Order: sequence, then structure tokens, then C-alpha cells
Amino acid sequence: MIDVKAIRKDFPIYDREPKLTYLDSAASSLKVKSVIDHVDHYYQALGVNVHRGAYDLAYEATRLYEEARTTVSKFINAQENEIVFTRGTTTSLNMIANAYRDLLKKDDEIIVTELEHHSSILPWMVIAQKTGAVLKYVPLTKEGRITVKEFEKVLTDKTKVVAITYVSNVMGYVTPIKEIIDLAHKKSAVVILDAAQAVPHMAVDVKALDVDYLAFSGHKMFGPSGVGVLFGKNELLNMLQPVEYGGEMADEVFKDHATFKDAPLRFEAGTPVISGAIGLAAAIRYIENIGYDDIHDHTIALKEYTLKKLKELKGITIYNETSDISTITFNVDDIHPHDIATMLDQYQVSVRAGHHCAQLVSRFLGVNSTLRVSFHIYNDFNDCDVLISSLKAAQDFFL
Ligand code: PLP
Repeated sequence: MIDVKAIRKDFPIYDREPKLTYLDSAASSLKVKSVIDHVDHYYQALGVNVHRGAYDLAYEATRLYEEARTTVSKFINAQENEIVFTRGTTTSLNMIANAYRDLLKKDDEIIVTELEHHSSILPWMVIAQKTGAVLKYVPLTKEGRITVKEFEKVLTDKTKVVAITYVSNVMGYVTPIKEIIDLAHKKSAVVILDAAQAVPHMAVDVKALDVDYLAFSGHKMFGPSGVGVLFGKNELLNMLQPVEYGGEMADEVFKDHATFKDAPLRFEAGTPVISGAIGLAAAIRYIENIGYDDIHDHTIALKEYTLKKLKELKGITIYNETSDISTITFNVDDIHPHDIATMLDQYQVSVRAGHHCAQLVSRFLGVNSTLRVSFHIYNDFNDCDVLISSLKAAQDFFL
């Protein structure tokens, strides 16, 4: 059971903003004190580079950075040499798409879906344009879900890449990914999983999934912004050409050629996000301490309660009543979502309005934009009540 009062003590923002009703965790979660403390410690006590200096401070910074890699690898059941620190999900997904540019040729097929965040479509759209590969979309069900049956309709012997979301940031649907990965592998295609919305809510085991590549961001899981993870199977990462070239990723450099280190350093050119990695490890420890079962039960209870209350209001269109996590996407009839969001802000209620960087989902729903609320462990039932009363106030004001 989550004790929200106790949890809120771990999130310093509530000391500054005790009346905050934060319902936008799918965009970015609030930040936990232990993360802030670890980032602070790095800057206060160390502040030096990793993998380079032959002095105590540098050894200590390197130890913390590499320990963070170990923490991440255990967290998703990977090997340490399969964890690349990046700037975030977007960077991780772009890195893989760019690395595959030389491996794809005309008429090869890349499968994506309409449920993707832009960062899981656009890199592949551009690579398809550059290589002559064909971008194919998994048809969604009426409800807007990716199913194995629909996936099979687009999978062919020409499929080389499947870039797919684990959990939709708009609909909150969990993709039946294990079956999809197994089917893709039968065609020798690689699967790149966007786990940005999955990792904050559910345990992810890359070995059990047998996924080839996976990406997530620190800032959606109580960690710092500016850090993320690219997981790749070690043998695949070592087969890819580096994406960026620079410091600490080369083995030997001559005037006309160079050799490069193995993964992960091969993909970490230049000074990495040291404080971010250290902070991310603290975020992981915090999540592990609470446990995904409690996170799931708590956030689902809040979602169910809110759905019930929303349905009691007049003039609300809900787009994802069967969302698998705690995301609710809806609109208030006859009022623009941005007007609602601005009005809710008057009551210190933070929600997201717009297309959520997933315009194809908006197009699928037949709207320009929607409102999205998303819960995490620091939310309580009072937050849901405040949301509902502020929505009523917005309706009274606008209608
Ligand atoms: N993929 C999904 C499903 C997301 O929800 C997001 C962020 O909203 C991203 C990718 C991009 O993450 P980031 O902005 O941290 O790179």
C-alpha cells in the first residue's frame, strides 16, 4: 500500500507547492529527493570527468558512473555492456535508426504503428526516405490497440525493423510485445522497443522479452532530465557503426583510420551525462524500494476512481476507458483542451493538452488535441476530486 503522505515527503516540490495537483507524470514525473541529493553530491563533491583522469576524484566519479550502469543493467535484466547512457528516449531511438541507415536498402520494410510517439516514427520515416525502405503501419483495432493479429498482417519476409511502443503515451495501452518480438525474430527482423511509458509503471525484463533494443528516459521515472538509456543486445551493438565520433570511444587513431571500442563506450562519445546517470541510479533504487506492484495498484485505483467521476459529469468524451496503465485521455465537449488546461491551472491542477507528440493518435481519434491526465505514486484521491471540481468550474465558466 502506498502512503501518499509519506511519499510526498520524498518529493521536495510539495514543500514549495503544497496545493499542487500534479497530473502530468506521463510527460515528466516529479523529482525525488534522493535523486536530487545524488546529483547534488556529484557536483558538490566531485564535478570531474569519468574514464579519463588518473586522480582520486576522477576514480570516484568513474566508480559512481559505472555503478549506475550496473544498477540500470540489473533493473532491466541486461548485461552492463548492453547499457548505453544517452540524453533520453528520443536520442536512443534516433541513434538506432541512424545506425541502421547503412544496413537497410531499397524495398526493405520497417514496421511502425500509429500509436507511436513521434520519436519512434520520425527517425524511421527519414531513414526510409534516405534508403528507399518502405515504412509500414500496423493497423489499429477500433479501440486503437496494436494486436498480434494486426501485426501479422504487415509482417513479411522483407521486414527488417520493427519500431514499436511498449505502452502508448496517449492511450495507455500495453502492447502484446512478447508475441510480436517472437514473430519478428522468425523473419530475422530486429525489434526496437520504446519503453518510455513502460519503465515508470512496470517491470521490464529485456532477457525475458528477448528484445533487441529498448529505450527509456530518466525524467519520467523520478530521475533527472537529460539522461536516458539505450539497451541493445551486446552482439548487435558491437556490429553497429558508432553514431557519434569523439573522445573516449576510439581505441586507436591514426592519420587516415581509427578503430573503435566495444559497446557501450563505442556509443558514448565525448563527456557523458555523468550526474544524470548517477541520479537515474538513485531513481531506480527508489522505485525498487517501493515496488511495481504497489505502484500499479495505487495508480490504477486512482484512474478507476477518476474514470467513474468523469463519467458522472456531463459532456465528457473519454477516448481510452480500457487504458492499461493510469493514463486517461479525454475532451470536454465544446471547450478547447488548451482552454481547459489553462483554467485548471488556476486551481493549481497540471494536466497536458495537445497532441502529446503523437499526432497520428489524434488523427486516429479524429480530433486535433485532447486532455491527458496521468497519475503516479504522489497522487491521492483528493487530487482526483480537485480535478473533477475544477473541470466542473471550467464548464460553468465556458458553457
Ligand atoms: N516515447 C514515448 C512513448 C514518450 O511518452 C516520450 C515522451 O513523452 C518519448 C518517447 C520521448 O521521450 P524523451 O522526450 O524523454 O526523449
